[in-house]
Amino acid sequence: MSFDPNIVKKDFPILAQKVYGKDYVYLDNAATSLRPQPVIDVINKFYSLENSSVHRGGYYYGQLATERFENARENVKTFLGAAQAEEIIFTRGTTESVNLVATSLMRSEMIQDGDEILISQMEHHSNIVPWQLIKFNKNISIKMIPIDKDGNINLDAYQSLLGPKVKLLAIVHVSNTLGTINPIKKMAQLAHQNGAMIFVDGAQAVSHLKVDVQDLDADFYAFSGHKIFGPTGIGVLYGKQDILNALPPYHGGGSMIERVTFEKTTYADLPNKFEAGTPNIAGVFGLSAAIDYFKSFDLESVEAHEKQLLNMATTSLNEISGLKILGNPQSKTGVISFNIDGVHASDIGTYIDQLGIAVRTGHHCTQPLMDFYQASATVRASFSIYNTITDIEKLISGLAKAVEFFNE
Ligand code: PMP
Repeated sequence: MSFDPNIVKKDFPILAQKVYGKDYVYLDNAATSLRPQPVIDVINKFYSLENSSVHRGGYYYGQLATERFENARENVKTFLGAAQAEEIIFTRGTTESVNLVATSLMRSEMIQDGDEILISQMEHHSNIVPWQLIKFNKNISIKMIPIDKDGNINLDAYQSLLGPKVKLLAIVHVSNTLGTINPIKKMAQLAHQNGAMIFVDGAQAVSHLKVDVQDLDADFYAFSGHKIFGPTGIGVLYGKQDILNALPPYHGGGSMIERVTFEKTTYADLPNKFEAGTPNIAGVFGLSAAIDYFKSFDLESVEAHEKQLLNMATTSLNEISGLKILGNPQSKTGVISFNIDGVHASDIGTYIDQLGIAVRTGHHCTQPLMDFYQASATVRASFSIYNTITDIEKLISGLAKAVEFFNE
C-alpha cells in the first residue's frame, strides 16, 4: 500500500480544526509532533477505566497496569533494537535522560578530575548544560567538535580531539536546527577505539530514521515520547547493561531500592534503580501506543515522503528573493532553518501564523550553533508524516506574501 499523508492526517484530530478560519498547517514537528487518535484513546482509557499504580497493588487493575507497563518496556526495547528490556529506563524525556547520565557519571569513578567530554557545535542546550553541571563536582573539561558551514560534523577535528583523557562523546543524532544526520556509527567506533563512551541524543531521529542501538553501538541513546507522536513528560534512556549496572542512581526514592535502613540503603536492579517514584504510567502507555502507530507505516515510504517534501521546499524556498537557508548538510531530515533579508524571523512567524501556518522562530535551544552562523534567530519549518505537498505550497505562498508585506 502506498503512503498517503492525506489519509495519515485523518488520524490527527487537531488537524481537522480551522485556525483563524483556515486549514491548520503544522510545520513545527521538530519542537513536538501531534498525537494520533489511538494514542489519545489509550491515555483516556487508562484514566477513565483502568487507573492504577504499577509494581504495587496485587489487585486486578494493579496487575493489568504492571503487565502493560513492562510490555511497553519490551516494545521500546524492540523498537530501539536493544538487547535487554532492563536497558530501557523511562524518564521524563531526552532532557532528563541526559541529566540522568551526566549526574550518575559525575557521582561515579568513571569520570575523574582532568577528564574530557566531547560535544559538537550543533548540540541542543539539553546536551550541553547537563555536562557543564558536572563541573560543580569534578574538574573536567568540555571540548567542542566543530562543524563546517554546510552543517556537517568535522570528522578530522573529532579524531584529533580524541585523546586519552576523553571519557565520553555526547552527540546529537539529528540536529533539530539543521536537520543534519550525524555519522553516529563511525563516531561510536572511533570513540570506542579511544576507550571513550558515546551518548546519543536521538530526540530528532526516532520518528524519521531506523534506529538500532546495537548496530550503532551506542552506549547510551535518549529520546522523547512527544517527538514521536506520544505524550509529553515521557521519554527513554537506553544504556548498555554493564554500564548502567556500574553507575550509581540518579534520583532516590520509592521503587529504586532493595532495602532501606537509616544506616544504609541498597538499590534495586535495573531498570528500577533508575526509576524512582511513581512513574508516568499513562505516558508509558501512550508512548507504547505511539510506537505501535509509527511502526504501522513502512519506514522507507515515510523517509521517501519526507525527502520529497524537503526537496520541494528547499527548491521553492531558494527561489524567494533574500531568503537564505542555514547549512546544506550531506545527509539531512525534513528540517529547514532560514532567514529572509531585512525581516526578523519572529515577524515572519507571526505573519504566517495568521494564515494558519505554524512554524518555530527563535534560536531553537542551539545558541552556540546560532553564534556560529551569526544569527540570533531563524524561522524553522520541520516536516512529519502528515504533511502534504499542499502544506509546503501554502508555506511558500505565505512566505511570498510576508516578503511583499514587510518590503512595502
Ligand atoms: N535534543 C534535541 C535535538 C531536541 O530537538 C530536543 C527538543 N527540542 C531535546 C534534545 C530536548 O527534548 P525534551 O525537551 O523533550 O527533553
